[in-house]
Amino acid sequence: TSFGFTTVAEGQKQALVDDVFHKVASRYDLMNDLMSGGLHRVWKDAMVSFLAPPKSPASSWQLLDVAGGTGDIATRVIEKSNRTARAIVCDINESMLSVGRDRAEKAGLSDAITFSLGNAEELPFPDKHFDAYTIAFGIRNVPDIPKALREARRVLKRGGRFLCLEFSEVDVPGLDRIYDGFSFNAIPAMGKWVTGDGDPYQYLVESIRKFPSQERFAEMIREAGFERVSYRNYSGGIAAMHTGWKF
Ligand code: SAM
Repeated sequence: TSFGFTTVAEGQKQALVDDVFHKVASRYDLMNDLMSGGLHRVWKDAMVSFLAPPKSPASSWQLLDVAGGTGDIATRVIEKSNRTARAIVCDINESMLSVGRDRAEKAGLSDAITFSLGNAEELPFPDKHFDAYTIAFGIRNVPDIPKALREARRVLKRGGRFLCLEFSEVDVPGLDRIYDGFSFNAIPAMGKWVTGDGDPYQYLVESIRKFPSQERFAEMIREAGFERVSYRNYSGGIAAMHTGWKF
């Protein structure tokens, strides 16, 4: 059986997404490595280098990492700041947050990173609060993306930055066909092998297909009120990072 996402109403999408991440939380980090061949680490490192958080304890610089799951982005940002920055990981799924909390504790980062339950569409944070907002492989899962983008802008300070890493449209001839074959067949098969269930990964592949192209997504970010919006492709467009500013 498949989740049949193509026929699912928008209102039910969040419940199905939640189910997927409850099921995979404990194996989530391992699956990321297997399915991307470790590439997700390279993309995340590139995103965090681009963000270049300040390395001064006096800066009181604060990140909000939305759909932050087990804390991959927040952890990298804190390390990059020489452990001087602070981060809140916000995710709608308590199972993912709890894996993240354990991981942060083992890394001695419990003081620097707070894990907080919340929905990207209705962030439980005040206006103009954060210096940067990141969302990695998360926005694709949110039912109302324009709403999440407006919320991102709301919680950012003036001069704050928005960074989004997401699977995108492959723009290298040849690679697109190899990638299609890999994702439609290999990813659900690997998911089944490691977690005992291929359905969540079938969903993953389908949600990547439906996500807007680089140009269209950049336009959506502009429509939410961000300025100087741009993007860069990683690995031929398998992933792309979009950035924008709130002025
Ligand atoms: N950012 C992490 C990373 O890159 O490893 C986790 C990405 S994981 C593929 C997607 C995450 O989005 C899951 O942890 C899921 O619970 C979360 N999520 C899905 N819908 C959400 C929503 N509406 N608001 C906040 N988080 C959401």
